This record gives sequence, C-alpha cells and structure tokens, in this order.
Amino acid sequence: MIRACVVGWPISHSRSPMIHGHWIETFGIDGAYGREAVAPEDFAGFITTLADRGYAGCNVTLPHKEQALAMVEDADAAARAVGAVNTVWLEGGRLRGANTDVPGFLASLDASAPGWDSGLDHAVVLGAGGAARGIVHGLIERGAGIVTVANRSADRAERLVSDHPVGRISATALADVGPALQTADLLVNTTSLGMKGQPALDLPLDSLKSSALVTDIVYVPLETDLLRAARLRGHPTVGGLGMLLHQAVPGFARWFGRTPAVTTALYDLVAADIGRS
Ligand code: NDP
Repeated sequence: MIRACVVGWPISHSRSPMIHGHWIETFGIDGAYGREAVAPEDFAGFITTLADRGYAGCNVTLPHKEQALAMVEDADAAARAVGAVNTVWLEGGRLRGANTDVPGFLASLDASAPGWDSGLDHAVVLGAGGAARGIVHGLIERGAGIVTVANRSADRAERLVSDHPVGRISATALADVGPALQTADLLVNTTSLGMKGQPALDLPLDSLKSSALVTDIVYVPLETDLLRAARLRGHPTVGGLGMLLHQAVPGFARWFGRTPAVTTALYDLVAADIGRS
C-alpha cells in the first residue's frame, strides 16, 4: 500500500484527505492519505523519518512550509522563489520538495479562463503574504508585463517587489490601488479579506478596466463579495477552489504514480463540504 499524508499544526481543518481520497478511489489504487498533527518542534524529526513511517511523501501546511524548504535536499524553482515547500516526496532516499501553489494557481486560470495570459500587460495583486509571493512569481513566469502589488503594510509589499526585476513590478498601498485598476487585465485577491470570519474586502470596482479578469484565492465562501461584485459588473471571474484542487495534482502524481484530473465531480464534492462548513 502506498501512503501519503498532510502535515500541519493544527491539521483537522485540511481538505487534502478528501481530495486525495477521491482520486485514490477513482483510480482504485491500493493507497491511503491521512492527516498528521505535528508540532513545530517535532517537524524536523517527522520529515526526516518519512520513509520509516511508511510514507512515500506528504503535503506540508501551516506552520511548517518554510521549515520544509530548509529540510529538503532539493527544492524546485517555485519553492525557492516563494521560500516555502508544500509538497515533499522521496526520490532515491532523498527528500525533494516543491511549491505547487504556483502551478495550482496558473492551472486553475488555464482551466477556467483559457487564454487569460495572452496580452497580460498589467496584473494587480492584492496582498503581499505567502500566497502573493507565489502568485507574483507565477505571473512573471507567464510573461505579465507589469505587476502591481497592493498591500496594507507597505514594507511587506516593498520586500516582495525587491525580489523581482526592476521595471516589472511595483508596490502601492492597498488603499491607493484605485488608479492601477484602470489598466488591469487581471485582478487577484490574495489577502485573507473576504474569507469567512475575516473582515470584508472593501474595494470599489468602478475604475476597473471593463475586460479585466477577476480572481480570488479565498474559497470560503466559494463566491466572495469581490467575485460577486465583479460578476455583476460583467467581468469574468474565477474562484479560489480551483487553485486548491489543482495544487494537489503534482503531489498525487509523485506519490501514487497516476496524474489525476480536476473534474466537476471533485469540485462538487469539495464545494458541498465547504457549503456545510
Ligand atoms: P498571509 O498571512 O501570508 O498573508 C495575508 C495577507 O492578507 C497579507 O497581505 C495581509 O496584509 C493581508 N491582510 C490580512 N488581514 C488584513 C486586513 N485586515 N486588512 C488588509 N489586509 C489584510 O496569508 P497567505 O498569503 O498564506 O494566505 C492568504 C489567503 O489566501 C488566505 O485566505 C488563504 O486561505 C488563501 N489561500 C488560498 C489558497 C488556495 O489554494 N485557494 C492557497 C493559499 C492561500 P499585511 O501584510 O498588511 O498583514
């Protein structure tokens, strides 16, 4: 039996077992995917004994993603750019790591808004946290002309901007993002604003370029107020659940040897669980 898991602290909230369990069942694989609650002080001991514990690999979630980068022998370019690993596997006895949030975000847009990246002259990213770091990296990789990072804390936005080529990216205060919206081909919310239990994202869309694609990586609720407002103004929109599902694909392929599809059935399964929560 092939076994994998998600490691975090706490971990009971994770929907990864539902996603991977669906694929294990779909393929009829003799496998299992579980949860491991591991405290920060125990993470290094856990990750270096994955094989002894019978695991082919694992997903890593809060608060261990940065430590995971330090623990793996080899990390992919996205993980190094973001400074965090969320997927670990064993190859020839060596620990390898990747950040699959980046390809997950891009794949979700590819699936829901094909062609979104052609003529992407200007992208506006709200937020400068861990998720924004990956998304900015992905957008620049995909050839975005200019990326504007708008964040509440100016210094965090400046730090993110300073890691990228001069001229391709700039920072602004979240409260001053209005003018940037006029030329935005893509607007991405990566702040936690609008998530269930968090304050609302108060962002007037009046100045937003009429053809702009609007996406929110928050997925609880499935349609955030931002997405709803954008949809009512006639913008194409993409919700955050697709990113969560697509980021799980590379890990499953590594551990279980089959590349799964993000199907409507899987989307509906997880969406129903979010609806119940
Ligand atoms: P971080 O904590 O690293 O960053 C949070 C961001 O939200 C920062 O930019 C922060 O601004 C901003 N923010 C938080 N509270 C406020 C507020 N009251 N007013 C203005 N800005 C605020 O979190 P992550 O980047 O890891 O995650 C962000 C969101 O993305 C979460 O909701 C998470 O669930 C979601 N997510 C979804 C994924 C998916 O697969 N769909 C994957 C990863 C994350 P500041 O710097 O000023 O504090």
